[in-house]
Amino acid sequence: MKIIAVDPFYLRMPDITAAADGTQDTLLVRIRTDTGLEGWGECDASPLVSLAVYCCPMSHGNIINIRTSLIGETLDSPEDVLRLNEKALRNGLDIQQIQHAYSGAEIALWDIIGQKLEQPVYRLLESALGERAYSNKGTSDIAHPKLPYASVLFGDTPEATYRIAAELHEQGYRAAKFGWGPMGKLDEANDIALVRAAREGMGTEAQIMIDAGVVWGTDYDTAYQRAAAFAQFSPTWLEEPLAPDAIDAYGALAGLLKGSGVTKPAHGTGVPIAAGEGSNNYRMAEDLIVHGGIEFVQIDAGRIGGIVPAFQVRQLAEQHGIQYVNHTFKSHLSLAAALHVFATNPDFNLLEYPAAGSELSQRLVTEPLQVDSDGLVRVKELPGLGVRVDTEAIRPYLAPVRIEVGEDTVFEPADF
Ligand SMILES: [Mg+2]
Repeated sequence: MKIIAVDPFYLRMPDITAAADGTQDTLLVRIRTDTGLEGWGECDASPLVSLAVYCCPMSHGNIINIRTSLIGETLDSPEDVLRLNEKALRNGLDIQQIQHAYSGAEIALWDIIGQKLEQPVYRLLESALGERAYSNKGTSDIAHPKLPYASVLFGDTPEATYRIAAELHEQGYRAAKFGWGPMGKLDEANDIALVRAAREGMGTEAQIMIDAGVVWGTDYDTAYQRAAAFAQFSPTWLEEPLAPDAIDAYGALAGLLKGSGVTKPAHGTGVPIAAGEGSNNYRMAEDLIVHGGIEFVQIDAGRIGGIVPAFQVRQLAEQHGIQYVNHTFKSHLSLAAALHVFATNPDFNLLEYPAAGSELSQRLVTEPLQVDSDGLVRVKELPGLGVRVDTEAIRPYLAPVRIEVGEDTVFEPADF
């Protein structure tokens, strides 16, 4: 098979707001081959900045765009995907956004290979990357269901948060994450009241997670005090209490938590720290795991460079005995890619599940990954990613892009 086309598409809602909602626009990438097979991927990054990485004119040998790297290449096996990943990242060595942008193409390549070999992507990963796996569970080709957790913002007040939590509980969610909003903005009493409201609304049986939305920056002392104060509500984790790159502060926080005995996940009473969604490449995630002392690493396959680097972080998590969780705040195309990465590990059993989001994100695939009657979500046992982009449903959101430089057309819309 030869790659004959690599087409990024910018889609957006009619009105974009400053709300913390990453589903308002998106960048899809479609790759076509000379056999008629095509694959799709989605990036969680600024769509137009990323689109430029597919078409920017060559500056020198370290700034070569993704299209140039991929078109005309042979694509027959998982090894070809690994080879092309290396080539595209090497050619884009001096393009700051390369991993973000390439994520969509990388996911699309796996979608194609899975279709060609008539295998779900998760089954191909351990054989392609398995020599670096540290899991000894012997479950390499069996997918395990995940417990979806609803991801919502804190209400503006504890009372509003209680109502949100009670509604989620009523809808049957057994786990929910509350984040951002007023957390960390007023005082300790308000922070505690917010978490208490989340716990009381969800009930004692449910899992709750707290996303502090990087609010304490590098102030690990305050983060530690809050973690200790939240322990009485048994949150599954405290997420991003600190800035994404505050590695030393994360390490200091981990030291305080371990020294104090606040972290006792084995007893179900501690407050483990979660972070990693801001990892733009494998090394950032590695830094958080090795030097930041986190206990849940949250990876977005649409940011970190695609399925392979996400899978490598999963392997590192296995090696370090910590939990891997997806970060997904896009469509179910992204969710499918995210799930293939860790479907085969039964211990990594939580799934960030986009339950709402924009109309664009909800209409993007023909058959979303449903929550089954037992409350769990399963990877689709279909070739490739197992989901199909509904181009007719999302055509109204397509924003055709044309880039001209002088007389030259650098980018023009492909058929959709
Ligand atoms: Mg978060």
